[in-house]
Amino acid sequence: MASIYNSFFVKKIKISDTTHLFYFTKPKDFEFDPGQYVSIEVIEHIKRSYSISSSPFEKYLECVVDISPMGVGTQYLLNLKKGDLVPFFGPLGFMILPKDLNQVPSLNLVCSGSGIGPFKSFCNYLRNIKYKGIVNLIYSEKYSKDFVKIEKIPNINIYKTVTREISENYLNGRVIKFLDKLDYNKKSLFYICGNMDMLMEVFVLLQQKGVDSDRIIKESFYS
Ligand SMILES: Cc1cc2nc3c(=O)[nH]c(=O)nc-3n(C[C@H](O)[C@H](O)[C@H](O)COP(=O)(O)OP(=O)(O)OC[C@H]3O[C@@H](n4cnc5c(N)ncnc54)[C@H](O)[C@@H]3O)c2cc1C
Repeated sequence: MASIYNSFFVKKIKISDTTHLFYFTKPKDFEFDPGQYVSIEVIEHIKRSYSISSSPFEKYLECVVDISPMGVGTQYLLNLKKGDLVPFFGPLGFMILPKDLNQVPSLNLVCSGSGIGPFKSFCNYLRNIKYKGIVNLIYSEKYSKDFVKIEKIPNINIYKTVTREISENYLNGRVIKFLDKLDYNKKSLFYICGNMDMLMEVFVLLQQKGVDSDRIIKESFYS
């Protein structure tokens, strides 16, 4: 059940000018499902949400953060010093994996930018539980330098695409260009995470391809 927990800031890793990984101690009694997020009071009465990108098997709580907004949330995180107390409320959110994953032949994940966070948690978790199904991940970033490394699992197909540069090493264009890479089996599940415009566009396109809305689970980070 969601509650207030105390964690402490451990470190941050800079992936690029805009993408950082933040690490916090995991309170002993804190349990969460991959895909969930926490809410932090970044200044009095102002809260910001951050998805946990580590899996429950990992030592620390990790968050993938796009620092480009530079509002109160990002500034709060960037100003943290090692050992600072970070109280949070959580776990929150319903973008989680089903209890009986054996019944799901494939998981189709579509995300942009920091929306990779919950899917990074999924992938680490799925590797640990030795998920037998197929994972298809379509992941877009503006620039190739922004990509966060994803845990390799045997049955994962990763489609990384960049939207603001032409790169020979990656696909080019928005995630919607690559939706035919997903598995449209009637028992498959679809997850979308990122900004609201992308999310709604993908949601509508998946429905047009015959996917029932109850098999599409989505989380919007911002509009
Ligand atoms: C359920 C949920 C989970 C979230 N998880 C994450 C996460 O794991 N990582 C993360 O970086 N953010 C995440 N966010 C967004 C985060 O809560 C903040 O909104 C974000 O850090 C910006 O806060 P700010 O105070 O710095 O900027 P604000 O002043 O609140 O926002 C400034 C502008 O930045 C835009 N913006 C907000 N978030 C982003 C973003 N992630 N990328 C690009 N532009 C953005 C806003 O639309 C706004 O126009 C999540 C949001 C929700 C609702």
